[in-house]
Amino acid sequence: MATRTENLMDWLRDAYAMEQQAETMLKGQSSRLEHYPLLKARIDQHLEETLGQQAQVKACIERLGESTSVAKELLGKVAAVGQAAGGALMTDEVVKGAVASYAFENTEAGLYTVIIEAASIAGDLETKQVCEAILKEELAMAQWLFEHLPAVTRAFMERSETPGETARR
Ligand code: MG
Ligand code: FE
Repeated sequence: MATRTENLMDWLRDAYAMEQQAETMLKGQSSRLEHYPLLKARIDQHLEETLGQQAQVKACIERLGESTSVAKELLGKVAAVGQAAGGALMTDEVVKGAVASYAFENTEAGLYTVIIEAASIAGDLETKQVCEAILKEELAMAQWLFEHLPAVTRAFMERSETPGETARR
């Protein structure tokens, strides 16, 4: 069995590892994108938000009396590097990356929704408020990607048809 705070702590740790993974993914995507300035700019904006989220989640963990786990962070980073490497092999890297990011942002939104409820049950209102603010950023990023997937697809297909143009990134 586990106490309310132990469950909350587990999910906060998951969130921290997830934000490490997010940082690696976003950095990888941003550094590779060349021909999609709007997407790159939004990724850079969310990278900044992600660094803030990391600090906020870390503060929640420390406020509850623990420190962040090196092992989980490492796992997240390894997974993200693998993903970035996989993306680089694809000829439609920008499109697959945008779809993967959309999925990732929704996973983040799901985990923060869990944490908000757990924090509420555990009586940790500070964590609840912090994660409600983070959730808004995740949902905004997910929504932006959803709305821009058609434009990314269109730009990719147009570039694919143009001799001498690079479409993949
Ligand atoms: Mg995040
Ligand atoms: Fe995110």
